[in-house]
Amino acid sequence: MKSKSELRVAIIGGGIGGAATAVALQREGIRADIYEQAPVIKEVGAGVGLRPPTVHFFKNWGIYEEIEKKSSKSDFMQVVACNGDVLVSERWPLLTDNPEGKWARLIHRADLIETFLNQLPSDSIHLSHRLESITDQGDHAEILFENGHSIEADLVIGADGIRSTIRSKLFSDTKPIYSGTHAYRAIVNDKEAFELVLDHTFKVFVDGGIQIYILPLHHRNQVSFDVTLQSKDPSWRPIVEKKDIVKHLKNFDTKIQKIAENVEEYTCRSIYDIDSIERWHSNCVTLLGDAAHAMLHHTGQGIQDAGVLAEALREADSIPEALQTFQARRKPVTDKYQELSRQEPSIESETAFPEKGHFEKA
Ligand SMILES: Cc1cc2nc3c(=O)[nH]c(=O)nc-3n(C[C@H](O)[C@H](O)[C@H](O)COP(=O)(O)OP(=O)(O)OC[C@H]3O[C@@H](n4cnc5c(N)ncnc54)[C@H](O)[C@@H]3O)c2cc1C
Repeated sequence: MKSKSELRVAIIGGGIGGAATAVALQREGIRADIYEQAPVIKEVGAGVGLRPPTVHFFKNWGIYEEIEKKSSKSDFMQVVACNGDVLVSERWPLLTDNPEGKWARLIHRADLIETFLNQLPSDSIHLSHRLESITDQGDHAEILFENGHSIEADLVIGADGIRSTIRSKLFSDTKPIYSGTHAYRAIVNDKEAFELVLDHTFKVFVDGGIQIYILPLHHRNQVSFDVTLQSKDPSWRPIVEKKDIVKHLKNFDTKIQKIAENVEEYTCRSIYDIDSIERWHSNCVTLLGDAAHAMLHHTGQGIQDAGVLAEALREADSIPEALQTFQARRKPVTDKYQELSRQEPSIESETAFPEKGHFEKA
């Protein structure tokens, strides 16, 4: 393998997975250039939960203190009936060997990605670069962007999301599968959340096929509000009016209905995932994050991919060996999460964490 300073590494996609990977590689002394199709890197307004296995990598990358300042510690998750009755109340499962690790940190997506990008040299982030074609030459790959720019890289990381061009050109013709649901998301000020969540408990309210996720972001004086509804419209960015969201929530606690009515603007997305694919990598190209294993919402795994890929590159004698190790360590885990993410919380749920039985440490 070339020396770390000589390696040419290109990451396609500047989402959570791509940006985390650039930080992880930088920590290993490897510069990676990010090529992002959008003219700005912007995350939708929504909260995410970070668990101890992810936080473990943040500590290694030297960014934990910054993340800690921008997030809140959450000890519990609840599944709640639409009338407010708590059906399940559970501590976050223990997913690392640290017995203290039964928690998650709740963060706004924009704060998370900003933290990653702040670590990187600005000249390593190339916006308005949409990958058009990729040619795998065995020991390197050639990439052409729509803007006419072309590059060669010893390692290409395809972090280009669920509709990955790299996946379809090199690895699999699998197509995203529509879940039959839309997610309508908004960030609401604490005082407009009617004291529905005063602590840091992540709550999912359920009524038949409807779920409402309320993820507190009290460090910002906000909560993340996410309504998941069934819909026959599979457009990626459906246009849905507020009244057509609110009308489905008549069975819910009146505070929830009020929150939903008061939201000024929802971000609307159809929810898709992919089936597990056989192979993520060649000798010089790998998929990562949603490009490799998109799952239904509220599960990701891209940051842990980033950490494991960086470790594999540190340990291996060659890039092909590192990519084999990466897939071997990650795929059994992400296959299971893909499968479990298809179990939506409901009134019958016996646990808020279907992954507990598979990944919880004794
Ligand atoms: C409603 C909802 C809630 C969620 N909640 C959570 C949660 O709580 N916790 C969690 O872990 N996960 C959650 N997820 C999943 C999480 O959002 C994804 O796993 C994560 O964003 C995937 O990151 P990524 O970098 O792999 O892909 P993406 O975020 O999709 O990023 C891909 C990037 O590649 C760029 N790109 C695409 N094609 C090209 C191209 N040809 N050339 C150049 N650039 C390209 C795109 O513009 C984009 O910036 C949620 C998802 C949804 C929809």
